[in-house]
Amino acid sequence: MSSLHPANKTTGCVYLIGAGPGDAELLTLRAARLLRGADVVVYDNLVSSDVLDFLPPSAQRVYAGKRRNEHTMRQEQINDLLVKLAREGKQVVRLKGGDPFIFGRGGEELQTLAAHGVAFEVIPGVTAASGVSSYAGIPLTHRDYAQTCLFVTGHLKDGTADLDWPSLVRPNQTVVIYMGLSGLPEICKQLIQHGAPAELPVAVVQDGSTQTQRVVIGTLTSIPERVATQQLKSPSLTIIGNVVKLHAELAWFKPCPPQP
Ligand code: SAH
Repeated sequence: MSSLHPANKTTGCVYLIGAGPGDAELLTLRAARLLRGADVVVYDNLVSSDVLDFLPPSAQRVYAGKRRNEHTMRQEQINDLLVKLAREGKQVVRLKGGDPFIFGRGGEELQTLAAHGVAFEVIPGVTAASGVSSYAGIPLTHRDYAQTCLFVTGHLKDGTADLDWPSLVRPNQTVVIYMGLSGLPEICKQLIQHGAPAELPVAVVQDGSTQTQRVVIGTLTSIPERVATQQLKSPSLTIIGNVVKLHAELAWFKPCPPQP
């Protein structure tokens, strides 16, 4: 019997699955197997259609949204829906981009399930920092350049990012910023003000690991304007540090954007 269908079918289970950054080939084997057996999937905006193709035609699909400034379902509604579906005895897949435990609110959703006694499992995914940097040919650590790597959110509240700037400007480290596109000018300004070299290399990668991947390279000084000129859009990941220099040598992924 597949582990997807426990003996007691009257009790559902929620599988919190990381869908990775876009390329469906990056799904774990367990994620792919669970998707194929799902009764219902509740998925976020960042989940690629290639990943959804793993679902059986019979699976009910619920789009939970969560684009910037456009929350299709409120977090409490999502939490309540997961509890309701599991109580109906369904095998529920809660599918999130990247890894559910990294800037994914996975923990919050599981807390609600735990409080209601609903069984759950977590299936990790390739987080954007890992998947996107790989496909951009930018190792996040390298003995010559960085011994530390920080993952931070650049989501701005009231136009300012509440970040620990002194910790972000230490030498020999890489800083990966999730959700930092709209705040990029402010982030670069703050880093320079806190002592980072104005010429520190920066990469911004849009749609990493997919056929529409775009990589823009610059420095703390030049990157905001380059990103604006090239009209990069969400989802984009920002990588700051000397490891970005390796992109020139190690970029291997050649996306083929669909022809208009
Ligand atoms: N849980 C996810 C992150 C969710 S926050 C994970 O582990 O990856 C959403 C942010 O992730 C986006 O704003 C962007 O910064 C980043 N991101 C996710 N997928 C991406 C992709 N394919 N390319 C570039 N950035 C991506």
